[in-house]
Amino acid sequence: MHTSKLVNQLAPSATIAAAAKARELRASGVDVLEFTLGEPDFTTPEHICEAAVAAMKDGHTHYTPATGLPALKESVCRAFARDYGVEYTPAEVTVSNGAKHAIHNVLTACCEPGDEVIIPTPYWVSYSALVELVGAIPVLVETTEESGFCMTADQFRGAITAKTRLLMLNSPSNPTGSVYPVEALEALAEVAVEKDIIVMSDEIYDKLIYDGYTFKTFASFGQEVRDRTIIINGVSKAYAMTGWRIGWTLAPENVSKAITKLQSQQTSNPCSVSQFAAMAALDGPQDCISEMLTQFQSRREYVLGRLRAIPGLSFADPGGAFYAFFNVSSHFGRTLPGGASVHNSSDFCTALLENAHVALVTGDAFGAPGFVRLSFATSMDIIEAGLNALEGFLAE
Ligand code: PMP
Ligand code: GLU
Repeated sequence: MHTSKLVNQLAPSATIAAAAKARELRASGVDVLEFTLGEPDFTTPEHICEAAVAAMKDGHTHYTPATGLPALKESVCRAFARDYGVEYTPAEVTVSNGAKHAIHNVLTACCEPGDEVIIPTPYWVSYSALVELVGAIPVLVETTEESGFCMTADQFRGAITAKTRLLMLNSPSNPTGSVYPVEALEALAEVAVEKDIIVMSDEIYDKLIYDGYTFKTFASFGQEVRDRTIIINGVSKAYAMTGWRIGWTLAPENVSKAITKLQSQQTSNPCSVSQFAAMAALDGPQDCISEMLTQFQSRREYVLGRLRAIPGLSFADPGGAFYAFFNVSSHFGRTLPGGASVHNSSDFCTALLENAHVALVTGDAFGAPGFVRLSFATSMDIIEAGLNALEGFLAE
C-alpha cells in the first residue's frame, strides 16, 4: 500500500528505537542494562492515582472541551503563578496529549511551509522531525561542551534570516542537562524582541534542577518577551506521569485559539481521566517532586563521579534533567571488545550493547556526533552495574 513522501522521509524517534532494540535483546534472554528512554522510573505518586480512580468512578469518562477542562487550565495557571510569580489566564492555556503533541501543535499553528526554525544543537530528537513534519526548515546552531551547550545571543542573531519564525529553546536540556544562566536567557530574549521571533521555551524539566543551578522561566522577562513566548510543559517528568499523556502550552490567546481549533479536528481532547490526575498533581502536595529529585541528585553525583574516572570521556556537568551526555570520540578508531572497529557514536553504542549489554542512545540522534546519552532515570543497582560494564568495556 502507498505511504506518503512526508512520512517516508521521517526518521523514527531514535530514543524510542533504542529502547525498543534493548527490549528486543532482553526478550531474547540477554540481561540488558538500559539507559535509553528519558522517563522517571518512579511510579506515579499515590494521591494522583487515587484522583484518577475517583474521576473514573464519578463518571468523568466522556469527551471534555478540546484543549482541556477549565478547571485544569486554572490549575495550570495557579501552579505557574505559585512557582514562578507569572500570571496567565485559562484562555492562554491549551492542554494536549503530552508535551510532544503540544510542540507539534505549536509548530502547526505558528509556522508556514518554508519558514525557518532555529534549533540549538544538541537538541531533543523530535525537534527537527516535528519541524519538518509541518514543512518548515530546521536551522541548526551548534553549541559546544566548552560553552556548557548554551547558544549565545550572537549565535542566535547570526542565524536569523528574513524567513526565521521561531526559536526552539530547551532549558534544562534533553540531552545535555544544561541549564541556561539567567543572563544568557535575557540576552536571547532581547534578540527575540528586537527581531520579533517567537520563542518556544520547552520547560518540561523545570522541576529537575540540581544544587548550584537556577531555573527561570522565559515568560518572566517582561511583557514584550512574554508576547513572543510559548511555554511548553506537562506532568510527564516532574510527577513521573509519562504514560498519562498530559502536556500543555502557555501562549498568547490567538495562538491558544488556533491550537484549540486544530486539536478539535485532530484528537477531540486529551484523556479525561488523565486530566483529573494532572489536577491532583498540580494542586496537591509537591513534596513528591523533591523526594524524586533527591534520588536523581544522588544518582547524578554517582554517575558523574564514575564517568570522570573513566579515561577518554568528557562532558559538561548537567545542571538539570536526568541525562549524562558525554563525549566518546577519543575512542573512535579503536577496535573495541567483540572486534568491532568504532568510527562514530552509533558504532560505539552498537558495540557497547552487543558486547557489554549496556544500552545508551547515540549522540547523532541529537545532532551531536561524538557523544552518547545515558539516562540515569533508573535504579542505583542498574546504574552501578552499567557503569562497571562500560568501564570494563573501554578498559579492554
Ligand atoms: N520535550 C523534551 C525536551 C522531552 O525530553 C520530552 C520527553 N519525551 C518531551 C518534550 C515530551 O514529553 P511528553 O512525554 O509529555 O510528551
Ligand atoms: N523524552 C524522552 C527521551 O528523550 C522520551 C522518549 C521520547 O519521547 O523521545 O528519551
